Amino acid sequence: MTAPSAILNLPAPPWRGEDVCMLYDMAHRFMSEEILPRYEEFEANGMVDRAAWEKAGAAGLLCASMPEEYGGAGGTYAHEAAIIEAIGHVGVDGFGIALHSAIVAPYILHYGSEEQKRRWLPRLARGELIGAIAMTEPGAGSDLQGIRTRAAKDGNGYRLSGSKTFITNGQLANLIVVVAKTDPDRGSKGISLLVVETDGADGFERGKNLDKLGLKANDTSELFFNDVHVPASALLGSEEGQGFVQLMQQLPQERLLIGTQSIAMAERALAATIDYAKERNAFGQKIIDFQNTQFTLAELKTEATIGKVFHDDCVARHVAGGLDPATASMAKYWLSDLQGKVVDQCLQLFGGYGYMNDYPIARMYRDARVQRIYGGTNEIMKLLIARSL
Ligand SMILES: Cc1cc2nc3c(=O)[nH]c(=O)nc-3n(C[C@H](O)[C@H](O)[C@H](O)COP(=O)(O)OP(=O)(O)OC[C@H]3O[C@@H](n4cnc5c(N)ncnc54)[C@H](O)[C@@H]3O)c2cc1C
Repeated sequence: MTAPSAILNLPAPPWRGEDVCMLYDMAHRFMSEEILPRYEEFEANGMVDRAAWEKAGAAGLLCASMPEEYGGAGGTYAHEAAIIEAIGHVGVDGFGIALHSAIVAPYILHYGSEEQKRRWLPRLARGELIGAIAMTEPGAGSDLQGIRTRAAKDGNGYRLSGSKTFITNGQLANLIVVVAKTDPDRGSKGISLLVVETDGADGFERGKNLDKLGLKANDTSELFFNDVHVPASALLGSEEGQGFVQLMQQLPQERLLIGTQSIAMAERALAATIDYAKERNAFGQKIIDFQNTQFTLAELKTEATIGKVFHDDCVARHVAGGLDPATASMAKYWLSDLQGKVVDQCLQLFGGYGYMNDYPIARMYRDARVQRIYGGTNEIMKLLIARSL
């Protein structure tokens, strides 16, 4: 089979140095040997099991961009990108490592006190703690300021009450960054982030594992906080009310991450389709010999190449500390749209087999759809880009 990493003939960008390439190879091997053989079981169970998370931790694949002193591998986003690409190329997209390592852990690294970092980051790196971030509520998704979850002062801590939905890693997560209102009268300035250790937390409940169109191996849940007591030391940042700014500062990486996933999955779809088109016959010739097939694949390869060059430039800027929110929004919106287009047109070239769940392209099609919705919908991305006009 053609390797997805070989599908676009591009020179490696400077951020993809020897150590990043070695990490990609290692992650690819791990995902191929440890996760892929069990992937159907994980899809049937609606989650990757905890043992697999711990194995990934032992292999050094969790928190690759966290400093070594906190149990990480001391890398940058380039290292997270290598792992995300390996996941996308092997096709174990439901393994929610990216959110754990490159979304949840950075909140603790950037806004946590020394004590908080030492308490949580090494356990996240080992996979003992599985991370989630709970922003969305049944009544508030795109409009984050409309959240109703309340963290009311209670002695030397808070009482947390409210419900969240669509939370990735929601069945397994035991360290959850919760977005809550500490002062409901102050709008965005009344929002704070609280890190909740859920093991043994009275009043914390999980809803059912939500039945999704795709990404079946990833658990996605409702979460209920019924007057959960959290200590004052759960607050991220030196004072209340910094949550909205903290979220806005971290969003470029979250958006770029979806772009990284998108381009990796598009490469896999192209590789699988080119292989299939070279094997399948119709009218006495290979499918690849029809000009329509050639033109379709030529166009998709061209657009994927453009997408990858843009993506790699965004990673370079991000690693250097200069990726602005509007450009990160472009990466999320354009690359996830591109993934949807590539996967849809590739599926067409599989004919009826493309619609059969036995064929990986069918799963790619289902898994791709949500990329345009979560992490801020692509419509919201366009609003953010428009603000930079
Ligand atoms: C599989 C999955 C995993 C998820 N994981 C997480 C997670 O880990 N943590 C978390 O907090 N959330 C998570 N989410 C939630 C996700 O981020 C939200 O679903 C998303 O932000 C959209 O919010 P919503 O569903 O409430 O849609 P709505 O905000 O109700 O939007 C509905 C439609 O209206 C459009 N719209 C809304 N506002 C505007 C506007 N101003 N202008 C133009 N159009 C607009 C939207 O683009 C969309 O098309 C996840 C969702 C899914 C499906």
